[in-house]
Amino acid sequence: MDLKVYIDGALVDKQQAKISVFDHGLLYGDGVFEGIRSYQGKVFHIDAHIRRLYDSARAIRLEIPMAPKDLNEAIYQTLTANNLTDAYIRVIVTRGVGHLGLSPYKTANPSVIIITDQIELYPPELYENGLEIIICSTIRNHPNALSPRIKSLNYLNDVLAKVEALDAGVLEAIMLNHNGLVAECTGDNVFIVRDGRLFTPPTASGILEGVTRNVVIQSARDSDIVVLEKNLTRYDLYCADECFLTGTAAEVIPVTKIDGRVIGTGKVGPVTARLVQAFGELTGKQ
Ligand code: PMP
Repeated sequence: MDLKVYIDGALVDKQQAKISVFDHGLLYGDGVFEGIRSYQGKVFHIDAHIRRLYDSARAIRLEIPMAPKDLNEAIYQTLTANNLTDAYIRVIVTRGVGHLGLSPYKTANPSVIIITDQIELYPPELYENGLEIIICSTIRNHPNALSPRIKSLNYLNDVLAKVEALDAGVLEAIMLNHNGLVAECTGDNVFIVRDGRLFTPPTASGILEGVTRNVVIQSARDSDIVVLEKNLTRYDLYCADECFLTGTAAEVIPVTKIDGRVIGTGKVGPVTARLVQAFGELTGKQ
């Protein structure tokens, strides 16, 4: 069966799933999106993702042409049409078709697109042994330019950071912000453990407020682990006992090497292991 894609209320075959070359999503990266997961037929924290999508849209003055509850329904409808229970879901809202000029006020209707597919994760051995990453030279967008809080269709900054990672022979890169403080990775948030306490950069440091990040913070607090949202430097990463990344696609993945330096013992640490386990319980995988 051909994959069905939701476009503006219709479910169309993958081959027919097309938008105009005059859509400002293509011309200018003018639009917003979400990456979501479903586990055993239940969409993981769907309300948090939908809320962030509408917040991102509001931040760029884009009106999503449907109510949040209808979007919720459309996501489930797309999963059902594709017979998917464990899936990655991409929700995209583009500014819509316009002229070649920048003005969003000259565009017609925004388009809502929902793509569901099988998820591609990191190889299982990386979850057991940890990921090697770098701190790259591409900095996170300044919050007063295109704020990292907005999950916009313009991900070029992250693409450039990803290129640095891949060229260095690793899969992820940590970006510092305009003040030289730790921000986040190209598609994941960053945590470190030091003396049993968990640290992660605050949203004000110029990051996307990850849904997984918030779930992990809550689950750590539920396990009586102290969590502090605190500015971190390169030094803090190098001297951490443990480090891990969180994101919808990656879930919780340990990091054991940064810039060629071994983090902690070089093995997945106890706090990380506990949080990986707790996250697995939330998704029903453990
Ligand atoms: N930071 C960036 C830049 C991201 O694109 C993402 C999502 N892929 C995240 C962090 C993690 O957010 P979430 O846990 O909501 O997927």
